[in-house]
Amino acid sequence: MKIRQFTAATMQEARMKIKMDLGPDAVILHSRTFKRGGIFGFFAKESVEVLAAIDTPERPFTLRPSAPAPTATPTAAPAPAPSLTVAPAPAPTHRSSVLGPLGAMFDSSAPPPPSMRPAQVEMAATVPIASPEPASAEMAEIREAMGEFKQILNTVKSQLEVPRGGVASVWPEKWLPVHERMLASDLDPSLIPILMDRLVLATDVEAGVRALEPVIADWLRGGGPILTTPAAGPTIVALVGPTGVGKTTTIAKLAANFRLLAQKDVGLITIDTYRVAAVEQLRTYGDIIGIPVEVVLTPSALKHALDRFQNKDLVLIDTAGRSPSNRMHLNELKGFLDFPHPKEVHLVLSATTNRVNLQKIVEAFSPVGIDRLAFTKIDESVAFGGLISTAYSLGKPLSYLTTGQSVPDDIREADPGAMAKSLIEEFLA
Ligand code: GDP
Repeated sequence: MKIRQFTAATMQEARMKIKMDLGPDAVILHSRTFKRGGIFGFFAKESVEVLAAIDTPERPFTLRPSAPAPTATPTAAPAPAPSLTVAPAPAPTHRSSVLGPLGAMFDSSAPPPPSMRPAQVEMAATVPIASPEPASAEMAEIREAMGEFKQILNTVKSQLEVPRGGVASVWPEKWLPVHERMLASDLDPSLIPILMDRLVLATDVEAGVRALEPVIADWLRGGGPILTTPAAGPTIVALVGPTGVGKTTTIAKLAANFRLLAQKDVGLITIDTYRVAAVEQLRTYGDIIGIPVEVVLTPSALKHALDRFQNKDLVLIDTAGRSPSNRMHLNELKGFLDFPHPKEVHLVLSATTNRVNLQKIVEAFSPVGIDRLAFTKIDESVAFGGLISTAYSLGKPLSYLTTGQSVPDDIREADPGAMAKSLIEEFLA
C-alpha cells in the first residue's frame, strides 16, 4: 500500500492531485481543513490536507504494533514512508473522514475514530524525534483507522444489502413499505416473516394488512381483570418492575377502581423502602381513597401485614423499582415475595421502552416469578411492536394497560384484539 499526503486549496483540487499521483482507485483515509499563511492570524488561506492510499501489490503494507519497543533495531522497523512525514500542524479548523465513493455518507462532523482522538494523537506526538521509526506511530494510527473504516464499510454494506436483496427477492415490491413499517414498529424481526408470508397472498394491501389482526391478537393472551373471590381469602397482587414505569400510580388506579367502583375491601402494602417519597405517595392515595396502607421493611413484616389484611377482598403490594441490572435488589425482592399465600405477580413495563430493553427487563425479573404483564404509558408510545413481541415471547397473560397519569381513569383491561389493531394501524400509517 502506498500512502501519500496532499495539500490543496480545495477538496476538488486535492482529489485531482490524488488521482494524478495515485490513480483513480486511490481511497481517501483522512482529511482536514486548516488555515495557512497570513499575518498574526489574519488573511490566512483555507487549505485542505488529505491523506490518501492506494493498494500496491508489489509493496505489502506490514506494520508492527503501535507502541514500538525502544530497543527495536532499525532493521526490524518497517521502511518509513517519507510521504507520511506530516508538516508542523497548522491550527485545524475541522476534520472529516472520507472513504472512497461512500465518503459522502459519513457525517464530517462525526467524532474522529478512536485512533485519532486527542489523547492518542498527543501520545503519538511525544514519540522522540530521534526514534528509529519516525513514522511508525502515524502508520499504526492509519492502520487502525483503516480497520475501523473497513468495519464501517461492512456495516453500511450489510445494511444496504440485507433489506434490499433479502426482502426484494422474497417479497414483491408493493409489500416493501409495509415491511419497512413492521421494522419501524420494533416488532421482533423473527416475527415479521410470519406476517409477510400471509400478507403476500392478498391482492389488496390494506385488506391484506387488516387480515393480520387476528393473527397478531392470537399471539397475545388476555388475562381478564383481577378476580376477587372473598370465600377463598384476599386476592394478593404484587406489582414489580423497574423504577419509574408507573407501578405506584397503577396501584392507586387499581385500588380506586376496586374500592370506589366495585365496592371491594382493599388493602395496600408497600415494600418500597428505598424511596420515602414513594411511601408518602401511596399513603396519600390510601387516605384519599379511604383504604389502609401498610409499610413493611422485611419479608416477615410483609407476612404479618398480609395476616392483618386476611379479611380483605384484594391486597395490592407496591414494590420498589428494581434496576434490572441490580441482582442484589432482585434477590431481595424475590425474598419478599416468597410467602406462602397464593399471589399474582404482575410485571409492569413501560410501553415507551424498546424491545431489546423490554426483553432484558423480562429476563432480569423472571427469577422473581412473573404471572402477568401490565403495560403503562401507552399514551406516550408510538411503536407497539416491541411491547407485543415481548408479551408474545414471554407467553404470560396480560393484565392492564395504563393510558395516562390520571388516577383512577387512565387504566383499562388489556385487550389483545385492541392491541393488535393498534399495531395494524402502524403498519398502514
Ligand atoms: P414507579 O416508580 O414505578 O412506582 O412509578 P410511578 O408510579 O411513581 O410513576 C412514575 C411517573 O410515571 C409518574 O410521573 C406518573 O405520573 C407517570 N405515569 C404512570 N403511569 C403513566 C401512564 O400510563 N402514562 C403516563 N404518561 N405517565 C404515567
